[in-house]
Amino acid sequence: MTTSPTSARSPLDPGPGPAEHVNAMQLSRFGAALEAVRYEPVAPEAGAIVADVTHAGVCGTDMHLQQGRMQIPLPVILGHESVGVVRELGAGVTVDALGQPLQPGDAISWMSNIPCGTCFFCAQEKQPSLCETRKVYGINQSSGVWPHLSGGWAEQIYLQPGSTVVKLPAGATPDAVIALGCAGPTATHALHTMASPKEGDVVVVQGSGPVGLASAMLAKLAGAARIILVGGPESRLETARRLGIGDVHIDVFGTEPQERLAQVLAETEGGRGADFVIEATGVPSAVAEGIDFARRGATYLVVGQYTDHGPTMINPHYITKKQLRMLGSWAFSAADQLEYVRAVPALSELFDLPSLITHYPLDEANRALEDMREGRTLKPVLLPGAGGTTSATAAR
Ligand SMILES: [Zn+2]
Ligand SMILES: [Zn+2]
Repeated sequence: MTTSPTSARSPLDPGPGPAEHVNAMQLSRFGAALEAVRYEPVAPEAGAIVADVTHAGVCGTDMHLQQGRMQIPLPVILGHESVGVVRELGAGVTVDALGQPLQPGDAISWMSNIPCGTCFFCAQEKQPSLCETRKVYGINQSSGVWPHLSGGWAEQIYLQPGSTVVKLPAGATPDAVIALGCAGPTATHALHTMASPKEGDVVVVQGSGPVGLASAMLAKLAGAARIILVGGPESRLETARRLGIGDVHIDVFGTEPQERLAQVLAETEGGRGADFVIEATGVPSAVAEGIDFARRGATYLVVGQYTDHGPTMINPHYITKKQLRMLGSWAFSAADQLEYVRAVPALSELFDLPSLITHYPLDEANRALEDMREGRTLKPVLLPGAGGTTSATAAR
């Protein structure tokens, strides 16, 4: 292993063959800037794949990780949402998760986590997204131990045996697949696996971050008649309008709860409330408001409370009186990842997904994190495979 911090870079030749070294951006100390490091290339063991990373998303989770808000083993190469190209296949790897032949040079996507397969949730409940000992690339797999290349913010990633890997289908460009990052499969788990809006439903989506926008897009794909996006700030809603995400846009920062409720009810037949409500805000008090948006007999899907921000006041009488179907949705499984990638061509026909992203060269990962923190970009995407700083461009 070599970890000499350096800012010198050499473009990586695409395709198989040994690379001199692999550039990566590594979190070595919580609260500090990421370091540019180099590792020796690694050959895949049986069942593993080495891939050249071409696109790697920057996610809100990465900001939390850098700031030390989650217990993870350091050092770690960040990057839990990425796509790339097969560089080398380990012995026995001949097909992807759908049984399609796999060869060096194929564009692929991979699931960020590997569930254990043997715990109560994996083996008995068949709910692998609830597995508590999942290995997650770019989060709990330290680059301090072999095979080191265990995060997406690097020119190569080592995909361990057991990884879910799928070839990108026709019509799914790397930019389109990565534009929603982990929010895409997360929303797929919620709106495909846990509960789905029906054709003709009036749907409320609370929250206009990546999970909210992804949820609104998937609701449209499911046939929702009208989608009311309740979010903010206004710049986010403007992005949503520009992409055609949602039919009605309500700014939470410019309205009072009673106004929002009146606006939502006015959009539903007879003012009875929405058929399907999705919470994707991460704000506890939004849940009480979402219950008010729902009609009697509606489904309420709580997706956004990933971080524990504490308790909130709700009136449980309304859950009973409205006979709400209230569901939580946590993370996603291999099946959700595959379903999401399969849906990208259809989503791409409805929405200009790449316009959500801004490209950065790999060695500007710190600037990408800063721009995200400051709200200057919705979705930064690093381009490790592009090499150097000159080839990276803003997406729009
Ligand atoms: Zn498990
Ligand atoms: Zn993410």
